[in-house]
Amino acid sequence: MTDYQAAMFLSDDDDSEIERQDFAPTESPNVGDDAVRRLVAQFVNITRWPSCDCPSGQPHKSVRVLFNNGLPYVHCFHPSCAADRATVNAQITDAFRTLSPEQQKNCRTPETSEERLLLNQKRQAYDIAKHRLLPDLLKNPVPPEHWLKCSPFPVAIVPNSRQWKLFVKAMYGVENDDIWIGNLPEAQVLADFKTPYLWWKQKLPFGSHISTCTFKLKTTLSREASGDIRIRSSGTRSKAFMKRKLFDILEVDPDEKSGQTSDEAYRQGGAVARWVQSTGQKLYAVVDTGNKSLHFWFPHYMMEIPREPRCPAGPYLEDYKRNPAYRASAWRQYERLMLKHKKVRRRAFNDRERWYAGLRGLGCDPQAITSLTARLPGVERLDKDGQPTGRWQRLLYLDPKFPVDDL
Ligand SMILES: [Zn+2]
Repeated sequence: MTDYQAAMFLSDDDDSEIERQDFAPTESPNVGDDAVRRLVAQFVNITRWPSCDCPSGQPHKSVRVLFNNGLPYVHCFHPSCAADRATVNAQITDAFRTLSPEQQKNCRTPETSEERLLLNQKRQAYDIAKHRLLPDLLKNPVPPEHWLKCSPFPVAIVPNSRQWKLFVKAMYGVENDDIWIGNLPEAQVLADFKTPYLWWKQKLPFGSHISTCTFKLKTTLSREASGDIRIRSSGTRSKAFMKRKLFDILEVDPDEKSGQTSDEAYRQGGAVARWVQSTGQKLYAVVDTGNKSLHFWFPHYMMEIPREPRCPAGPYLEDYKRNPAYRASAWRQYERLMLKHKKVRRRAFNDRERWYAGLRGLGCDPQAITSLTARLPGVERLDKDGQPTGRWQRLLYLDPKFPVDDL
């Protein structure tokens, strides 16, 4: 630990000592980061930097410490904990202000400046989409009837009750992994996970929602007392079991604050979808959810991120470390590939973040875009008490991803 680091870690009652120190910038870029971690850790429980527990005490996920102009703050997506967050963030800000300007400046590490840059870019993408692009798009709103008219597959001739099979076949085709069809938010049962082919053989779907991704359930083999070997599967529709996200759903809900009607939201969604199409992305399907909103099914943005390079076979890294000569070249090559892979991944991730920020600016529901489930067409919509409403979740447009000639 350098003198400078030591000075940063002194407690408050050692102020006089700090003032005697020379605060020349240090050679270690991580010094400031550590100091900020310590500062933030006084107010929230850091799990694995920059992730932390939600200040509200609720088990929220994706709670993170972010930086705004070098100033750390706790970020959580849930509106319910806004008050708790505001309190904690005010405390963090106050504590941060007691640091000297030099210390504050040194809190800007390479990671945080990259995060800040991305945050600014996301803000810009959002602003440009909202204030420049959207007004332009709204000059030519697209009504729902448009999609029925220009659908490559004649969905209008397929009866409502047969649309779910058509949809499963056209969108998931020959995927080998399981997709999920069930009801939300019911308990998850394994029977709801099947390959598209097995779903196709069912008489009825098991629920009103379908996953926008494939899942890989965990299978274990066990030997029964009788000597038979049994295969057991386990899994849920959580990210942990997701294999591959296939689709992003764009949905524009009426903006209640500005008094937007659902019809205007339909047309705005249509204009946005047509613009996304014009950027070269293929629109696969438009689904009327039966309750004043449309779902536009696009391919998952940046789906084709290359896979992680594989570890060299044979010796483990630990063995290699003990004996540098032992297959050193294979490991060296792996490390090089891994570095490159991380860079590519990071760039793809940042691209996606900017793209999603722009879509939010265009009025798309951020939760729908990243959601792992969406409404399945060909199912009658039920009300809150489970009673049929007479309105159907149905297809307005279908451009099959997989051939459906034998329907
Ligand atoms: Zn929260």
